[in-house]
Amino acid sequence: MNSILSDRILNMEESATLAMAKKARELKAQGIDIISLSLGEPDFKTPKHIQQAAKDAIDEGKYFAYPPVAGYQDLREAIAKKLREENNIAQAKAEHIVVSVGAKHSIANTFMCIINEGDEVVIFSPYWVSYAEIIKLCGGVPVLIEGTLENNFKATAAQLEAAITPKTKAVIYSSPCNPTGSVFSQQELEAIAGVVMKHPNMVVIADEIYELINFTGKNFSIASLPGMFERTVTVNGFSKGYAMTGWRVGYICAPLEIAKAVEKMQGQFTSGLTGIAQRAALAGIAGDQTPSKDMATEYLKRRDLVLGLLRDIPGIKTHVPEGAFYFFPDVTAFFGKSAHGHSVANADDLCLYLLAVANVSLVTGSAFGAPNCVRISYAASEAELIEAMKRIKKALGDLA
Ligand code: PMP
Ligand code: GLU
Repeated sequence: MNSILSDRILNMEESATLAMAKKARELKAQGIDIISLSLGEPDFKTPKHIQQAAKDAIDEGKYFAYPPVAGYQDLREAIAKKLREENNIAQAKAEHIVVSVGAKHSIANTFMCIINEGDEVVIFSPYWVSYAEIIKLCGGVPVLIEGTLENNFKATAAQLEAAITPKTKAVIYSSPCNPTGSVFSQQELEAIAGVVMKHPNMVVIADEIYELINFTGKNFSIASLPGMFERTVTVNGFSKGYAMTGWRVGYICAPLEIAKAVEKMQGQFTSGLTGIAQRAALAGIAGDQTPSKDMATEYLKRRDLVLGLLRDIPGIKTHVPEGAFYFFPDVTAFFGKSAHGHSVANADDLCLYLLAVANVSLVTGSAFGAPNCVRISYAASEAELIEAMKRIKKALGDLA
Protein backbone atom coordinates (compact mmCIF):
# COMPACT_ATOMS: atom_id res chain seq x y z
CA MET A 1 0.00 0.00 0.00
CA ASN A 2 1.19 3.49 -0.73
CA SER A 3 1.89 5.69 2.27
CA ILE A 4 -0.82 8.05 3.42
CA LEU A 5 1.94 10.62 3.81
CA SER A 6 2.73 13.21 1.20
CA ASP A 7 5.86 13.12 -0.95
CA ARG A 8 6.57 16.46 0.64
CA ILE A 9 7.13 14.97 4.10
CA LEU A 10 8.52 11.65 2.87
CA ASN A 11 11.25 13.50 1.02
CA MET A 12 12.15 15.69 3.97
CA GLU A 13 15.17 14.96 6.21
CA GLU A 14 14.60 15.18 9.96
CA SER A 15 16.42 18.09 11.63
CA ALA A 16 19.77 16.53 12.65
CA THR A 17 20.29 19.00 15.49
CA LEU A 18 16.93 18.22 17.05
CA ALA A 19 17.29 14.48 16.36
CA MET A 20 20.63 14.35 18.17
CA ALA A 21 19.23 16.38 21.07
CA LYS A 22 16.32 13.93 21.30
CA LYS A 23 18.69 10.95 21.35
CA ALA A 24 20.79 12.57 24.11
CA ARG A 25 17.63 13.31 26.14
CA GLU A 26 16.45 9.68 25.81
CA LEU A 27 19.81 8.30 26.98
CA LYS A 28 19.82 10.74 29.90
CA ALA A 29 16.33 9.55 30.85
CA GLN A 30 17.75 6.00 31.00
CA GLY A 31 20.17 7.24 33.65
CA ILE A 32 23.24 7.50 31.37
CA ASP A 33 25.48 10.46 32.18
CA ILE A 34 25.35 12.19 28.78
CA ILE A 35 26.92 15.60 28.21
CA SER A 36 24.89 17.20 25.47
CA LEU A 37 26.87 19.50 23.19
CA SER A 38 24.56 18.89 20.26
CA LEU A 39 21.87 21.54 20.56
CA GLY A 40 22.59 25.17 19.77
CA GLU A 41 20.76 26.44 22.79
CA PRO A 42 21.97 28.92 25.45
CA ASP A 43 22.29 27.29 28.87
CA PHE A 44 21.45 30.63 30.51
CA LYS A 45 18.02 31.57 31.78
CA THR A 46 16.04 34.30 30.03
CA PRO A 47 17.01 37.58 31.80
CA LYS A 48 14.83 38.50 34.79
CA HIS A 49 13.42 41.73 33.37
CA ILE A 50 12.15 39.81 30.33
CA GLN A 51 10.53 37.17 32.53
CA GLN A 52 8.95 39.99 34.55
CA ALA A 53 7.52 41.62 31.43
CA ALA A 54 5.76 38.37 30.56
CA LYS A 55 4.31 38.10 34.07
CA ASP A 56 3.16 41.72 33.92
CA ALA A 57 1.56 41.09 30.53
CA ILE A 58 -0.48 38.24 31.99
CA ASP A 59 -1.50 40.34 34.99
CA GLU A 60 -2.53 43.24 32.75
CA GLY A 61 -4.88 40.84 31.01
CA LYS A 62 -4.65 42.71 27.68
CA TYR A 63 -2.76 40.19 25.61
CA PHE A 64 -4.93 37.10 25.51
CA ALA A 65 -6.71 37.76 22.21
CA TYR A 66 -5.41 37.08 18.69
CA PRO A 67 -2.53 39.50 18.19
CA PRO A 68 -2.13 41.34 14.86
CA VAL A 69 -0.70 38.86 12.34
CA ALA A 70 2.57 40.76 11.77
CA GLY A 71 3.09 41.50 15.48
CA TYR A 72 2.12 44.28 17.90
CA GLN A 73 2.81 47.72 16.49
CA ASP A 74 5.03 48.81 19.41
CA LEU A 75 7.20 45.70 19.07
CA ARG A 76 7.55 46.22 15.32
CA GLU A 77 8.48 49.86 15.94
CA ALA A 78 11.07 48.90 18.56
CA ILE A 79 12.61 46.36 16.17
CA ALA A 80 12.71 48.89 13.33
CA LYS A 81 14.35 51.46 15.64
CA LYS A 82 17.00 48.95 16.67
CA LEU A 83 17.71 48.12 13.02
CA ARG A 84 18.05 51.81 12.15
CA GLU A 85 20.21 52.73 15.12
CA GLU A 86 22.35 49.64 15.62
CA ASN A 87 22.46 48.05 12.18
CA ASN A 88 22.41 51.26 10.12
CA ILE A 89 19.45 50.01 8.10
CA ALA A 90 18.16 53.55 7.65
CA GLN A 91 14.97 52.64 5.74
CA ALA A 92 13.66 50.17 8.35
CA LYS A 93 10.14 51.03 9.54
CA ALA A 94 7.50 49.04 11.42
CA GLU A 95 5.79 48.17 8.14
CA HIS A 96 8.88 46.22 7.03
CA ILE A 97 8.87 44.03 10.13
CA VAL A 98 6.98 40.75 10.51
CA VAL A 99 7.26 38.91 13.83
CA SER A 100 6.99 35.11 13.61
CA VAL A 101 7.25 31.92 15.66
CA GLY A 102 11.05 31.94 15.80
CA ALA A 103 13.56 32.77 13.09
CA LYS A 104 13.01 29.29 11.66
CA HIS A 105 9.44 30.29 10.90
CA SER A 106 10.61 33.63 9.49
CA ILE A 107 12.90 31.79 7.08
CA ALA A 108 10.20 29.28 6.12
CA ASN A 109 7.69 32.08 5.51
CA THR A 110 10.17 33.96 3.37
CA PHE A 111 11.03 30.99 1.17
CA MET A 112 7.34 30.09 0.85
CA CYS A 113 6.76 33.59 -0.49
CA ILE A 114 9.62 33.86 -2.98
CA ILE A 115 10.32 30.39 -4.39
CA ASN A 116 8.58 28.93 -7.42
CA GLU A 117 9.04 25.29 -8.47
CA GLY A 118 12.59 24.82 -9.77
CA ASP A 119 13.98 28.14 -8.52
CA GLU A 120 17.52 27.93 -7.21
CA VAL A 121 18.75 29.27 -3.90
CA VAL A 122 22.49 29.56 -3.32
CA ILE A 123 23.54 28.55 0.18
CA PHE A 124 26.86 29.51 1.73
CA SER A 125 28.06 26.15 3.05
CA PRO A 126 28.63 24.89 5.75
CA TYR A 127 25.09 25.98 6.51
CA TRP A 128 22.44 25.60 9.17
CA VAL A 129 20.57 22.29 8.77
CA SER A 130 17.12 23.65 8.08
CA TYR A 131 17.90 25.93 5.11
CA ALA A 132 18.14 23.18 2.48
CA GLU A 133 15.08 21.26 3.70
CA ILE A 134 12.90 24.38 3.81
CA ILE A 135 14.03 25.38 0.32
CA LYS A 136 13.21 21.90 -1.03
CA LEU A 137 9.83 21.94 0.73
CA CYS A 138 9.03 25.11 -1.17
CA GLY A 139 9.93 23.46 -4.49
CA GLY A 140 13.32 25.13 -4.70
CA VAL A 141 16.74 23.69 -5.49
CA PRO A 142 19.56 24.33 -3.00
CA VAL A 143 22.89 25.15 -4.67
CA LEU A 144 25.83 24.92 -2.28
CA ILE A 145 28.96 27.04 -2.45
CA GLU A 146 31.57 25.67 -0.11
CA GLY A 147 33.97 27.31 2.27
CA THR A 148 36.90 25.31 3.60
CA LEU A 149 38.72 25.16 6.91
CA GLU A 150 41.61 27.00 5.26
CA ASN A 151 39.49 30.10 4.56
CA ASN A 152 37.58 29.86 7.86
CA PHE A 153 34.72 28.14 6.03
CA LYS A 154 33.79 31.32 4.20
CA ALA A 155 32.82 30.81 0.57
CA THR A 156 33.53 33.91 -1.50
CA ALA A 157 31.64 36.42 -3.62
CA ALA A 158 33.41 34.93 -6.66
CA GLN A 159 31.95 31.51 -5.82
CA LEU A 160 28.52 33.12 -5.49
CA GLU A 161 28.89 34.78 -8.87
CA ALA A 162 29.87 31.47 -10.49
CA ALA A 163 26.83 29.71 -8.96
CA ILE A 164 24.22 32.17 -10.23
CA THR A 165 22.03 31.04 -13.13
CA PRO A 166 18.87 32.53 -14.70
CA LYS A 167 16.92 30.42 -12.13
CA THR A 168 18.64 31.88 -9.05
CA LYS A 169 16.08 33.51 -6.79
CA ALA A 170 18.02 34.06 -3.59
CA VAL A 171 21.19 33.51 -1.61
CA ILE A 172 21.28 32.73 2.11
CA TYR A 173 24.00 32.80 4.76
CA SER A 174 24.24 33.14 8.51
CA SER A 175 26.80 35.48 10.05
CA PRO A 176 27.93 34.79 12.74
CA CYS A 177 27.57 31.35 11.20
CA ASN A 178 25.94 28.24 12.51
CA PRO A 179 27.77 25.77 12.39
CA THR A 180 31.22 27.39 11.96
CA GLY A 181 31.09 30.54 14.12
CA SER A 182 32.67 32.49 11.23
CA VAL A 183 31.75 36.14 10.76
CA PHE A 184 31.65 37.93 7.40
CA SER A 185 33.59 41.20 7.45
CA GLN A 186 32.17 44.40 5.97
CA GLN A 187 34.44 43.97 2.92
CA GLU A 188 33.24 40.41 2.34
CA LEU A 189 29.61 41.52 2.56
CA GLU A 190 30.30 44.43 0.19
CA ALA A 191 31.69 41.96 -2.32
CA ILE A 192 28.61 39.72 -1.94
CA ALA A 193 26.33 42.76 -2.34
CA GLY A 194 28.27 43.74 -5.46
CA VAL A 195 27.38 40.41 -7.05
CA VAL A 196 23.73 40.55 -5.96
CA MET A 197 23.33 44.08 -7.35
CA LYS A 198 24.22 42.75 -10.81
CA HIS A 199 21.25 40.34 -10.68
CA PRO A 200 17.99 42.24 -10.24
CA ASN A 201 15.84 39.13 -9.78
CA MET A 202 17.49 37.77 -6.68
CA VAL A 203 17.44 38.67 -2.99
CA VAL A 204 19.72 38.01 -0.03
CA ILE A 205 18.44 36.29 3.10
CA ALA A 206 20.82 37.53 5.81
CA ASP A 207 20.41 35.38 8.92
CA GLU A 208 21.75 37.50 11.77
CA ILE A 209 20.35 35.47 14.67
CA TYR A 210 23.78 35.23 16.35
CA GLU A 211 24.34 38.98 16.05
CA LEU A 212 24.74 39.51 19.80
CA ILE A 213 27.31 36.71 20.09
CA ASN A 214 30.02 38.23 17.93
CA PHE A 215 33.53 38.41 19.37
CA THR A 216 34.93 40.66 16.62
CA GLY A 217 33.11 43.66 18.10
CA LYS A 218 31.99 44.50 14.56
CA ASN A 219 28.47 43.73 13.40
CA PHE A 220 27.62 44.52 9.84
CA SER A 221 24.26 44.16 8.14
CA ILE A 222 24.28 43.78 4.36
CA ALA A 223 20.92 45.61 4.19
CA SER A 224 22.71 48.80 5.27
CA LEU A 225 24.70 48.97 2.01
CA PRO A 226 23.54 51.33 -0.75
CA GLY A 227 20.76 49.75 -2.82
CA MET A 228 20.61 46.64 -0.65
CA PHE A 229 17.60 47.41 1.54
CA GLU A 230 15.29 46.59 -1.37
CA ARG A 231 17.20 43.38 -2.02
CA THR A 232 17.57 41.94 1.48
CA VAL A 233 15.48 40.02 3.97
CA THR A 234 17.23 40.44 7.31
CA VAL A 235 16.32 37.59 9.67
CA ASN A 236 16.83 37.86 13.40
CA GLY A 237 15.27 36.70 16.64
CA PHE A 238 15.52 36.43 20.40
CA SER A 239 16.49 32.77 20.88
CA LYS A 240 20.24 33.19 21.05
CA GLY A 241 21.13 36.71 22.18
CA TYR A 242 18.40 36.87 24.85
CA ALA A 243 18.40 33.15 25.79
CA MET A 244 14.78 32.83 24.72
CA THR A 245 14.72 29.66 22.59
CA GLY A 246 11.46 28.37 24.05
CA TRP A 247 9.61 31.68 23.71
CA ARG A 248 9.78 31.34 19.92
CA VAL A 249 10.20 34.92 18.73
CA GLY A 250 11.82 35.71 15.39
CA TYR A 251 11.39 38.44 12.82
CA ILE A 252 12.23 39.66 9.37
CA CYS A 253 12.91 43.11 8.06
CA ALA A 254 12.07 43.01 4.37
CA PRO A 255 11.10 45.24 1.47
CA LEU A 256 7.38 46.01 1.65
CA GLU A 257 6.34 43.58 -1.10
CA ILE A 258 7.96 40.64 0.72
CA ALA A 259 6.85 41.79 4.21
CA LYS A 260 3.23 41.99 3.01
CA ALA A 261 3.47 38.56 1.39
CA VAL A 262 4.92 37.04 4.56
CA GLU A 263 2.11 38.57 6.61
CA LYS A 264 -0.42 37.05 4.21
CA MET A 265 1.29 33.63 4.42
CA GLN A 266 1.37 33.79 8.20
CA GLY A 267 -2.28 34.79 8.26
CA GLN A 268 -3.16 31.45 6.67
CA PHE A 269 -0.74 29.26 8.62
CA THR A 270 -0.23 30.38 12.22
CA SER A 271 -1.69 33.87 12.74
CA GLY A 272 0.30 36.23 14.96
CA LEU A 273 2.79 35.03 17.57
CA THR A 274 1.63 34.47 21.19
CA GLY A 275 0.96 37.88 22.76
CA ILE A 276 2.82 37.17 26.02
CA ALA A 277 5.97 36.15 24.12
CA GLN A 278 5.77 39.40 22.14
CA ARG A 279 5.58 41.48 25.35
CA ALA A 280 8.63 39.60 26.66
CA ALA A 281 10.48 40.27 23.40
CA LEU A 282 9.65 43.98 23.61
CA ALA A 283 11.25 44.12 27.08
CA GLY A 284 14.27 42.35 25.61
CA ILE A 285 14.83 44.65 22.67
CA ALA A 286 13.92 47.93 24.36
CA GLY A 287 15.32 47.16 27.84
CA ASP A 288 18.68 46.66 29.54
CA GLN A 289 21.17 44.97 27.20
CA THR A 290 23.64 44.14 29.99
CA PRO A 291 22.52 40.50 30.43
CA SER A 292 23.03 39.85 26.69
CA LYS A 293 26.50 41.42 26.84
CA ASP A 294 27.39 39.38 29.93
CA MET A 295 26.31 36.18 28.18
CA ALA A 296 28.47 37.03 25.16
CA THR A 297 31.46 37.63 27.45
CA GLU A 298 30.85 34.24 29.04
CA TYR A 299 30.67 32.54 25.60
CA LEU A 300 33.99 34.12 24.66
CA LYS A 301 35.60 32.71 27.81
CA ARG A 302 34.22 29.28 26.98
CA ARG A 303 35.40 29.55 23.38
CA ASP A 304 38.95 30.14 24.61
CA LEU A 305 38.66 27.31 27.10
CA VAL A 306 37.44 24.81 24.48
CA LEU A 307 39.97 26.06 21.92
CA GLY A 308 42.80 25.25 24.33
CA LEU A 309 41.34 21.81 25.07
CA LEU A 310 40.71 20.97 21.40
CA ARG A 311 44.24 21.98 20.41
CA ASP A 312 45.42 19.42 22.91
CA ILE A 313 43.67 16.55 21.07
CA PRO A 314 45.88 14.94 18.40
CA GLY A 315 44.10 14.69 15.02
CA ILE A 316 41.57 17.50 15.61
CA LYS A 317 41.94 20.43 13.19
CA THR A 318 40.02 23.60 14.00
CA HIS A 319 39.86 27.28 13.09
CA VAL A 320 39.07 29.95 15.66
CA PRO A 321 35.36 30.83 15.58
CA GLU A 322 34.59 34.54 15.91
CA GLY A 323 30.98 34.28 17.04
CA ALA A 324 27.96 32.08 17.84
CA PHE A 325 28.78 29.18 20.20
CA TYR A 326 30.09 26.41 18.01
CA PHE A 327 33.35 24.74 17.03
CA PHE A 328 33.37 22.90 13.73
CA PRO A 329 36.56 20.82 13.67
CA ASP A 330 37.75 18.62 10.84
CA VAL A 331 37.88 15.03 12.10
CA THR A 332 39.09 13.14 9.01
CA ALA A 333 42.17 11.94 10.93
CA PHE A 334 39.88 9.43 12.69
CA PHE A 335 38.20 7.98 9.61
CA GLY A 336 39.07 4.35 8.89
CA LYS A 337 39.89 3.63 12.55
CA SER A 338 38.10 1.49 15.16
CA ALA A 339 37.80 0.82 18.89
CA HIS A 340 35.37 -0.62 21.46
CA GLY A 341 33.55 -2.57 18.75
CA HIS A 342 32.88 0.54 16.60
CA SER A 343 34.35 1.28 13.16
CA VAL A 344 34.50 4.94 12.18
CA ALA A 345 34.15 5.49 8.43
CA ASN A 346 32.80 9.05 8.54
CA ALA A 347 31.61 11.91 10.78
CA ASP A 348 28.21 10.25 11.36
CA ASP A 349 29.98 7.18 12.73
CA LEU A 350 32.29 9.33 14.82
CA CYS A 351 29.33 11.08 16.47
CA LEU A 352 27.70 7.72 17.25
CA TYR A 353 31.02 6.44 18.60
CA LEU A 354 31.47 9.48 20.85
CA LEU A 355 27.89 9.20 22.07
CA ALA A 356 28.31 5.51 22.94
CA VAL A 357 31.88 5.55 24.28
CA ALA A 358 32.41 9.10 25.63
CA ASN A 359 28.74 9.79 26.37
CA VAL A 360 29.04 13.16 24.68
CA SER A 361 26.57 14.20 21.98
CA LEU A 362 27.75 16.27 19.00
CA VAL A 363 26.20 16.74 15.54
CA THR A 364 27.70 15.31 12.37
CA GLY A 365 29.01 17.84 9.86
CA SER A 366 27.20 16.04 7.05
CA ALA A 367 23.97 17.63 8.30
CA PHE A 368 25.57 21.02 7.62
CA GLY A 369 27.04 20.16 4.22
CA ALA A 370 30.54 19.36 5.56
CA PRO A 371 31.02 15.59 5.97
CA ASN A 372 34.61 15.94 7.25
CA CYS A 373 33.57 17.85 10.36
CA VAL A 374 31.54 17.62 13.55
CA ARG A 375 29.77 20.45 15.37
CA ILE A 376 30.43 21.05 19.04
CA SER A 377 28.11 23.47 20.82
CA TYR A 378 29.87 25.13 23.75
CA ALA A 379 26.68 26.62 25.19
CA ALA A 380 27.30 24.55 28.31
CA SER A 381 28.93 25.15 31.69
CA GLU A 382 32.73 25.25 32.01
CA ALA A 383 32.66 22.12 34.17
CA GLU A 384 30.66 20.23 31.53
CA LEU A 385 32.94 21.45 28.75
CA ILE A 386 36.10 20.38 30.58
CA GLU A 387 34.67 16.95 31.34
CA ALA A 388 33.32 16.52 27.79
CA MET A 389 36.67 17.40 26.20
CA LYS A 390 38.46 15.01 28.55
CA ARG A 391 36.10 12.19 27.55
CA ILE A 392 36.36 13.03 23.84
CA LYS A 393 40.17 13.09 24.01
CA LYS A 394 40.25 9.68 25.68
CA ALA A 395 37.76 8.10 23.24
CA LEU A 396 39.52 9.53 20.19
CA GLY A 397 42.85 8.38 21.58
CA ASP A 398 41.51 4.81 21.73
CA LEU A 399 40.79 4.76 17.97
CA ALA A 400 43.45 2.91 16.00
N1 PMP B 1 19.04 30.48 12.03
C1 PMP B 1 20.12 29.88 12.58
C2 PMP B 1 21.45 30.08 11.93
C3 PMP B 1 19.99 29.09 13.73
O1 PMP B 1 21.06 28.52 14.28
C4 PMP B 1 18.71 28.90 14.28
C5 PMP B 1 18.57 27.95 15.43
N2 PMP B 1 18.03 28.43 16.51
C6 PMP B 1 17.63 29.58 13.69
C7 PMP B 1 17.83 30.33 12.57
C8 PMP B 1 16.23 29.46 14.23
O2 PMP B 1 16.11 30.06 15.46
P1 PMP B 1 14.71 30.21 16.21
O3 PMP B 1 13.68 29.54 15.38
O4 PMP B 1 14.91 29.58 17.55
O5 PMP B 1 14.47 31.68 16.34
N1 GLU C 1 19.52 26.27 15.81
C1 GLU C 1 19.88 25.41 16.87
C2 GLU C 1 20.90 24.40 16.40
O1 GLU C 1 21.41 24.51 15.34
C3 GLU C 1 18.67 24.80 17.52
C4 GLU C 1 18.08 23.59 16.90
C5 GLU C 1 17.46 23.89 15.57
O2 GLU C 1 16.44 24.57 15.55
O3 GLU C 1 18.07 23.46 14.60
O4 GLU C 1 21.22 23.50 17.15
